[in-house]
Amino acid sequence: MSKVAIIGRPNVGKSTLFNRLVGKKLALVDDQPGVTRDRREGEATLFDADFTLIDTAGLDDAAEETLAGRMRQQTEVAVADADVILFVIDSRIGVTPMDSHFAGLVRRADKPIIVVANKAEGRAGEAGALEAHGLGLGTPVAISAEHNEGMIDLYDALAAVL
Ligand code: GDP
Ligand code: MG
Repeated sequence: MSKVAIIGRPNVGKSTLFNRLVGKKLALVDDQPGVTRDRREGEATLFDADFTLIDTAGLDDAAEETLAGRMRQQTEVAVADADVILFVIDSRIGVTPMDSHFAGLVRRADKPIIVVANKAEGRAGEAGALEAHGLGLGTPVAISAEHNEGMIDLYDALAAVL
């Protein structure tokens, strides 16, 4: 079974997407950045696609001995372990310097990467989703994990690489 890792800085909605696709609330969703402290794995289904999904803590570039550093480490492990990477940004905020920095790290893994512009319900995220083109990781897929929007587009992007 293919492994898909959800990567991105804290608070972009990684755990919300994980819970949406796994169909169980295995991951803790919280407004506090960096609440998912350990990596979680579950069997995910999106229409007729089945895959193992890995939720991670947010990417952070701090020293290894800090909590943020440990999160970064486990993210690197998840990237190394994954066949496909979902790189999530918050389309309401747009691309931050931290997003760009970690896009560079993820790119080095040389694996299929799907840029997911989350929080794009309604039209609120259009500008941010467009901005995500600038990451240079391909056409972003605009979704709303919370409102279950954009899942057909996400399916199409995943089905092309699974
Ligand atoms: P993580 O740190 O990347 O795992 O992010 P979480 O999944 O914990 O979500 C962080 C916050 O963003 C929570 O308050 C979620 O309810 C919220 N959130 C997640 N997905 C969406 C979405 O599609 N739209 C909006 N507006 N909020 C979302
Ligand atoms: Mg989380």
